[in-house]
Amino acid sequence: MSDSPRIVIVGAGHAGGTAAALLRQYGHHGAMTLIGDEPLEPYQRPPLSKAWLKGEADGDSLRLKAPEWYGDNGVDVRLSQSVRAIDRATRTVSLGSGDVVSYDVLILATGARARRLAVEGVGLNGVVTLRTAADAEVLKAVLARQPHRIKRLVVIGGGYVGLEAAASARSLGAEVVVVERESRILARVACTTLSTFFAAYHRQQGVEFILDAAVERLVGENGQVAAVQLADGSRLDCDAVLVGVGAVPNDELARDAGLNCQDGVLVDLAARTSDPAVYAIGDVTRRPMPLYETLMRLESVPNALEQARQAAAAITGRPAPESETPWFWSDQYDLKLQIAGVPVGCTDIVVRGSATAPGFALFHMAGDVIRAVEAVNAPAEFLAGRQLIGRRAPVCRERLADRATPMRGVAL
Ligand code: FAD
Repeated sequence: MSDSPRIVIVGAGHAGGTAAALLRQYGHHGAMTLIGDEPLEPYQRPPLSKAWLKGEADGDSLRLKAPEWYGDNGVDVRLSQSVRAIDRATRTVSLGSGDVVSYDVLILATGARARRLAVEGVGLNGVVTLRTAADAEVLKAVLARQPHRIKRLVVIGGGYVGLEAAASARSLGAEVVVVERESRILARVACTTLSTFFAAYHRQQGVEFILDAAVERLVGENGQVAAVQLADGSRLDCDAVLVGVGAVPNDELARDAGLNCQDGVLVDLAARTSDPAVYAIGDVTRRPMPLYETLMRLESVPNALEQARQAAAAITGRPAPESETPWFWSDQYDLKLQIAGVPVGCTDIVVRGSATAPGFALFHMAGDVIRAVEAVNAPAEFLAGRQLIGRRAPVCRERLADRATPMRGVAL
């Protein structure tokens, strides 16, 4: 390979866009092509369910870089173009347009897509998922205020995206019902105490929850969704349905090309796949987590950024970046939830503050070591917790539980 390999990045999202910028920052001067199937340059998705949905942010503020940055920095951006196949023998990718692009190094950053709900009626107008700016545009239009008419949104799935959209819809004046299959919201991603807190907070804001519920079908009138029919016979009339039942990795390209995959493209800590000429970053990957001695698929901006750094460093011959403690955030109403670490192998939870009012943190413990922290409007606890998790430092559980003891005083 020459000093300036031709780099092709497939997927112009948060990970792909960041990798392009970092490669230039790290001194890669060679040809670079960024191919994305959406019509927009790389943008941030988090605001789509938050500020942007509420009309508090404009389209430009979503972008990672101004559109002219790509031309100015010699990045050939091909938007609204889908990569259909990778030929690893000839080191080429084929686009839906028929174009074939050669690479020396390929970066797969194809992200994940919203999981579909397999029930009758999902194709009706007014039934949306929330993954792209185009999806958010549709949801925003459905929720737009009309004089003398209160809109009713049913959210199927009580995960982060569904709850954030529920909070935004409430602030737009809509009625919101969340239908959840499990017996609690956030069942897959948060502990019971946190679920209980968030459910109570949403109820105070007027959101209704229907738990342990199975959706039977979506009922339409003249092609427009009019109701959600549940298996117990109840019918929820509505103007729109948001399906928020998780995401699946877009790893088909990699699988078809014979790369090792396991619900996500398998990569190492340099973001390298089973082919040394191919890297994969972001939501599409299943990656090693040294702190937890396991592989995980993470769907978060910090993960996309970390893996973009790993790949850009490896490609440009820089030292590998230090491994990070995973983290994530979610904004709902005036609540900022910040989570660091993953509660793997935990024995119990230490609660700091009262888990009934904002300003508390839940520390997931393995003995005296913090493995994960869930902090609600408690940034100091989140930051210190994240550091302690990374250092695997033992802490004094009594001091940790005592809000009067500063977080810097909890390590043993
Ligand atoms: P994406 O940003 O999804 O980008 C992948 C891109 O590749 C997409 O544009 C896709 O269309 C394109 N693509 C796929 N296949 C092809 C192909 N064959 N050819 C060309 N292009 C292709 N994370 C947080 O940390 N905090 C939050 O608060 C938060 N909120 C979120 C709210 C919403 C509504 C959503 C949807 C996500 C949120 N996330 C949040 C998650 C975060 O946005 C993702 O983890 C992040 O976008 C992952 O980046 P990525 O580049 O891997 O994937």
